Amino acid sequence: MSSERRFIPYSRQQVSAEDIAAVTAVLQSDFLTQGPVTPQFEEAFAQRHGAAHALAVANATAGLHMACLAFGVGPGSLVWTSPNSFLASANCALYCGADIDFVDIDPATRNMGLAALAAKLEQAKQRGQLPDVVIPVDFAGLPCDLREMRGLADRYGFRIVEDASHATGAAYEGQPVGSRHADITVFSLHAVKIITAGEGGMLTTADAGVAERLRLLRSHGMVRDAGQFTGAEQGGWVYEQQLLGFNYRMTEIQAALGLSQLQRLDALQTRRQQMADRYDQVLADLPLILPARVPQRTSAWHLYVVEIDGSRTPVARAEVFDRMRAAGIGVHVHYIPIHTQPFYRARGFSAGDFPLAERYYQRALTLPLHPGLTQDDQQYVVDSLRSALAG
Ligand SMILES: *Cc1c(COP(=O)(O)O)cnc(C)c1O
Repeated sequence: MSSERRFIPYSRQQVSAEDIAAVTAVLQSDFLTQGPVTPQFEEAFAQRHGAAHALAVANATAGLHMACLAFGVGPGSLVWTSPNSFLASANCALYCGADIDFVDIDPATRNMGLAALAAKLEQAKQRGQLPDVVIPVDFAGLPCDLREMRGLADRYGFRIVEDASHATGAAYEGQPVGSRHADITVFSLHAVKIITAGEGGMLTTADAGVAERLRLLRSHGMVRDAGQFTGAEQGGWVYEQQLLGFNYRMTEIQAALGLSQLQRLDALQTRRQQMADRYDQVLADLPLILPARVPQRTSAWHLYVVEIDGSRTPVARAEVFDRMRAAGIGVHVHYIPIHTQPFYRARGFSAGDFPLAERYYQRALTLPLHPGLTQDDQQYVVDSLRSALAG
């Protein structure tokens, strides 16, 4: 049966004829980098996400690194994130020489737990070790507790860098993610994400000063505009380095693809929403815990993750995973808790440190969800899951 079908990946980019034409036009133009398309993409992204400023970067990992640096994270600083995330959410703090710690998840939303964050902040305050930056993650595309986290940030004096790598186009209380509450929001445009630039990232912020600092960090800490020089102007050739920056720029080729994809964001979003609704309906009677629906929050549905409910089936997650893969279905597991990785264990973390993220991980299974998935594909996924769970 599976041999007649092509492999169904958990995610896949969708590239249109318009995307190809847009990229081709850039390839035939004068600028492959630092041309007019990247600012156009930034402008369009800012508008769609209700943000004052948007900056295109090479990838979201670079964006997270820059966001930490923009808030002065360095040796002696402390950053907290969710253990249920991709490695980059934590690695960015270590790039800066800072210390990293984690806040356990809310098992219902699988995002950083609000109560856990509040309790950990109170303990940290007693010890005089409050975090400088907290990086909540909009896991699977579901916005985190942004309003409440803003309240905690104002009370305890930390910055919020929201890792919205999964959440392009998501909404919180009717407003686009990236428009408010976080100090910087970071989106990923990797090929498996909601819209893609091949590789790429976008940062949004409401703060013009922060945006300016990010601009410097993105391109060698360098300014070319004489109005911004700290020294005397010596001639038209002069550029000034004002801080230690990087080359974290996006190319025009990437920006053309991203801008073209952005035009379809709403349509892609609707398609993902429909497929998630369909999964909800047809999986309801199986021994699974389905993704939470939270009032006032619209998920971007980057991932559709079920948990195998061990109290209702003897079949282990690993068995279900293997059976689905054998059926040609690219199920996945998001995420191995970051603190249990060998690298993080060597830094002093151990299994048991964040038990809710660990328990979630033991049961989690990501089902295919992307705009190219046909109804027939989805039915095949559901039928295969049903028989995998039957043992
Ligand atoms: C994909 C992802 C990243 C990294 O994004 P890149 O653009 O690949 O660097 C960071 N955080 C999360 C949660 C992600 O899913």
